[in-house]
Amino acid sequence: MAPDMIGVFGGTFDPIHFGHLRTALDVMQSVGLDEIRFIPLHNAVHRDQPETPAELRLEMVRLAISQQQGFVVDEREIRRTGDSYTVETLASLREEQPQRSLCLLLGMDAFNGFADWYRPDEILRLAHIIVMQRPGEEGPKDSRVKRLLHRSQANTPAQLRTEDCGLILQQAVTQLDISASHIRSLLVQGQTPRYLLPEAVLQLIENNHLYRVDHTK
Ligand code: ATP
Repeated sequence: MAPDMIGVFGGTFDPIHFGHLRTALDVMQSVGLDEIRFIPLHNAVHRDQPETPAELRLEMVRLAISQQQGFVVDEREIRRTGDSYTVETLASLREEQPQRSLCLLLGMDAFNGFADWYRPDEILRLAHIIVMQRPGEEGPKDSRVKRLLHRSQANTPAQLRTEDCGLILQQAVTQLDISASHIRSLLVQGQTPRYLLPEAVLQLIENNHLYRVDHTK
């Protein structure tokens, strides 16, 4: 029998939106993953720090995924203090579930910066990578990332089941031009981001008066 494969989807989720949710569901269905773990980061290593306290980002993820079977929230990075290193998260998942192989989900923008992550080679010894296309993001530009892709590209989802880790699949997903930064900027301007994210998440944002102040200045 083919081994179980689980998706690992890390993000600041500040806030979580339909661009995360629909694309993750596309991947779960197209690749045949048993589960996708949404893992909110505590601190972000490669980008600006999240604006919203970890507990509230966690709660937004919980609300957003509660209706979808196979979507699971994973608190390990929020509970771990300090920087969030994907390699450590994957190693701890591997240790807990040695019989399942791991697929790290990355949007094309995140994959583009992958060569500068902490221990990218080690990440590929622990997991496959599934790259989700994102509007406005062409293929990788960094020559190191291009080389990695050339060396490790999987051409079909089925190929991921032939190895335990180390392959990179580019997966077509619904193209939703939605980003957390755009949602935050709408809120700063006093506009509503309704229909870009789940209503329950919007209610939590409103009840807690989140994203009212422009932190980019
Ligand atoms: P921000 O606008 O603050 O940078 P974001 O919308 O990119 O945030 P993150 O939480 O940083 O959200 O993203 C987590 C992961 O989800 C990343 O791998 C990112 O590439 C991917 N992602 C986010 N939005 C989309 C989208 N619309 N389509 C495909 N992938 C996405």
